[in-house]
Amino acid sequence: MKKFRFFAALLLAIVMLAVGVAGGFVGYYYLDRNRFTSEVYTSGAMQVHFLELGNKYTGDCTYIKAGDTDILIDAGSRTDSIQTIDNYLRNFVTDGKLEYVIVTHAHQDHYAGFATNENSESLFDKYSVEVIIDFALTNQKEDGAMYSNYCRERDEAIENGAQHFTARECIEQNNDVFELSGGVTMTVLDQRYYYEKASSENDYSVCTLFTYGDQNILLTGDLEEKGEASLIEKNDLPEVTLYKAGHHGSKTSSSPELMAVIQPEVICVCCCAGSPEYTDVSDNQFPTQEFIDNVAPYTDEIYVTTLCVDYDNGDFTSMNGNITVVFSGKGFTVRCSASDLKLKDSEWFGKNRKMPEQWKDKSA
Ligand SMILES: [Zn+2]
Repeated sequence: MKKFRFFAALLLAIVMLAVGVAGGFVGYYYLDRNRFTSEVYTSGAMQVHFLELGNKYTGDCTYIKAGDTDILIDAGSRTDSIQTIDNYLRNFVTDGKLEYVIVTHAHQDHYAGFATNENSESLFDKYSVEVIIDFALTNQKEDGAMYSNYCRERDEAIENGAQHFTARECIEQNNDVFELSGGVTMTVLDQRYYYEKASSENDYSVCTLFTYGDQNILLTGDLEEKGEASLIEKNDLPEVTLYKAGHHGSKTSSSPELMAVIQPEVICVCCCAGSPEYTDVSDNQFPTQEFIDNVAPYTDEIYVTTLCVDYDNGDFTSMNGNITVVFSGKGFTVRCSASDLKLKDSEWFGKNRKMPEQWKDKSA
């Protein structure tokens, strides 16, 4: 009987210890997650944030912190995203100053946050901006409401002291390489549609490469296949750690040719997954089956910001949520505000996409 009591007590002690340790892990995990937006990252590290936009529309907003330099690339998807973007940025941009704003092209899902009417504040009003780099060309009409709002807001920022260059001017004035703080370099890449008319507005996209140590990050806006071909031709593109899926994971971008050159390790897709905003054909809704098949030979580490729940009712939810990729100089970590699941492991993928052969081999 005594022996039994001893073993029972020992067992209880082991169970309590196990529960304690597991509880500690769970506690740490949640604490860590909740801390994540306000956490102060170590100086010198580089962070790339892909933001959710607070509505059911697909759009881009990428915020990069390179040392003390704050860079905002695009601010979609509608003017009502401004508050969502501003609330997020305030956690990081503590001095109210954006050293660089890059506006890739004149589509509302990329520049709505800079294109308010005179009665409301755009992101150009909310932050002091040092340098604006935007598209050289557009097919938008000068009297188009959103485009003229953009031009007015941008020109006000210039009056308030911002320097302004189009991507073409950056190239032509040999002002295409910017040394940022924290040892990060930003390069404005060259492509043919800074100089010639394109049938698709997307092809005017300003493309940038960020380099930190031996890590490269490529952002191509909504550049499509012909633009990508010229990007390959005009630049000596390296292999990249992180690639923002071109054109929200559309079938018109992330061509096999570009993927073979850059061979991305991690891909972030800014979209409202499975939304019928542009098409009812499921395979062609972002992120498209063709995009998945094009990138599959290189990586299965794909993250997506938002998920469409019911487009007609305006219902959406986070997929991975706000996605942050933190570079330490030696490696990188991906941290998501909602879920850390890779795209291929998500419920949406299981229901709506075919698993590429390369990914089947990996899990087998
Ligand atoms: Zn877009």
